[in-house]
Amino acid sequence: MGDILVDRPVEIISAVLKVTEEQIVQMIRQSMLAGNLPFGAAVLHQSSLSPFTVSVNKVQKSPLLHGETNCIREFFLNPSDKRPPTDSCLFFATHEPCALCLSAISWTGFSHVCFLFTHEDIRDLLGMDGDIDILEEVFRVAAPSDTNESLAARPLYNRDNRYFKARSVAELLDQVEGGAEKERLDGEIQRVRSLFDEFARSEGTS
Ligand SMILES: [Zn+2]
Repeated sequence: MGDILVDRPVEIISAVLKVTEEQIVQMIRQSMLAGNLPFGAAVLHQSSLSPFTVSVNKVQKSPLLHGETNCIREFFLNPSDKRPPTDSCLFFATHEPCALCLSAISWTGFSHVCFLFTHEDIRDLLGMDGDIDILEEVFRVAAPSDTNESLAARPLYNRDNRYFKARSVAELLDQVEGGAEKERLDGEIQRVRSLFDEFARSEGTS
């Protein structure tokens, strides 16, 4: 069986940028008026790459309602015969899922994940370091042979595991052969990422 993250990077990039620009950004703008955070997620059909559920962070309702967990909650509000099997979907998060959301994705069977901003972007652009901090503090166990340096050099989680495979949009772009189409896509990624600049400012960070 083919792997959509390997076989269709161009289509995936286009589809997730489209749902981000056309739906998620507006939904975030609205939800931030109520004090929620600038994160969103979408479940797309793998076949058509059309969105099935689109959702945003609602931490004012509950601190567990991240963009991803709220999206998963809403996805499962559909009766089982009215929603696609999770392993036939692509799970998109505007920002790389945190430990809570990585677990939620594992428990619910979404097998393919992609995201626009990495954990490092969240720290550097939004000034929020909870994602990295929780993965390091709670989940990262040092081997007896580890030094501070070897521990720090380890990835924070397995992007390829038995539950899911996760890639950033930039990693998907790396798979595309160089040329005009790749340059166009790169420009589109930068343009859609910049739509989040207004949220960084309204968070009061640089
Ligand atoms: Zn999360």
